[in-house]
Amino acid sequence: MRLLVTGGAGFIGSEFVRSLLSITDSSTHGIQVTVLDKLTYAGVAANLDPVVDHPGYTFVHGDICDARLVDQVMAGHDAVVHFAAESHVDRSIAGAEPFVMTNVMGTQLLLDAAVRHRIGRFVHVSTDEVYGSISTGSWTEDCPVEPNSPYAASKAGSDLLALAYHRTYGLDVVVTRCSNNYGPYQFPEKLIPLFVTNLLDSKKVPLYGTGHNVREWVHVSDHCHGIELALRSGRAGEIYHLGGGTELTNEELTQLLLKATDSSWDMVEQVPDRQGHDLRYSLNCDKAANELGYAPRVRFEEGLDETVSWYRDNRHWWMPLRGKA
Ligand code: NAD
Repeated sequence: MRLLVTGGAGFIGSEFVRSLLSITDSSTHGIQVTVLDKLTYAGVAANLDPVVDHPGYTFVHGDICDARLVDQVMAGHDAVVHFAAESHVDRSIAGAEPFVMTNVMGTQLLLDAAVRHRIGRFVHVSTDEVYGSISTGSWTEDCPVEPNSPYAASKAGSDLLALAYHRTYGLDVVVTRCSNNYGPYQFPEKLIPLFVTNLLDSKKVPLYGTGHNVREWVHVSDHCHGIELALRSGRAGEIYHLGGGTELTNEELTQLLLKATDSSWDMVEQVPDRQGHDLRYSLNCDKAANELGYAPRVRFEEGLDETVSWYRDNRHWWMPLRGKA
């Protein structure tokens, strides 16, 4: 299979590429991966160092909003896994334009090129944030999108475009919606790596509002496994939820991170709440479990310990990025 992966130098995309190219069984025999990435502040070329000498790997430095380049790069591929996005909610509140450009316009250009080049499968990687906030219960795939932040609205727009390209042009599209990811190589602006790297440097951590907002966490390796299942056996035109099942308030998560870094509550600075801050996210993943055999495999406590250790051992990776955050 010749696979085009957009945003493959980011947190989740690089995990997907590293894990795909490290599997040596027959399922990935002969696989070729092209990464297309603009290397924005969040894209780190070194995230792909472990696969740089793999014979099936090619890197293209470029923008998904560059129609000519996208058309050239798309040629010769069998499938696309589309991760590239502006992904940080706080940045979208400060300025929505790059979110609309990359997440909506960039996705539309990729979808157009995929139709032209008769791509066999287009996996569009999306988020639970498109649904807004849910006080009780969990979202199923048929719930309406009601996004609150510009980030979530831009992702919802791209999801709807992807599904429309399936209905209108017959493009074989699968949309995955995932809960909050954690794990190694996450840019130190997101909650877990920001808090861990601050605490490792004895700096205070900023906790929004009351800290009672609830997020569902999934290890990045489980998310990537779910995407691979969707790529191989998802049904065209369908949405699949890929959650982790561990729901925590931000305050509970902060307590766990303080414990893991031998820090105390004095290190927490409560800051004014994020504008439009969703109270709770929760995904029902029965459809992915029943149709794809998806089940998260990493226990949260173990995954979090391993993640904290990774940041402790890989200062050389995150120190240069802090200035960009
Ligand atoms: P990230 O910010 O770490 O990485 C994004 C990557 O996309 C970077 O390598 C960046 O250089 C690249 N990129 C950005 N704009 C581009 C453009 N115009 N052209 C080409 N490349 C561009 O993001 P992430 O956390 O790895 O998220 C990947 C995808 O997963 C996103 O679509 C995001 O919406 C989705 N998602 C993320 C989470 C999460 O918890 N991080 C949860 C659910 C879904």
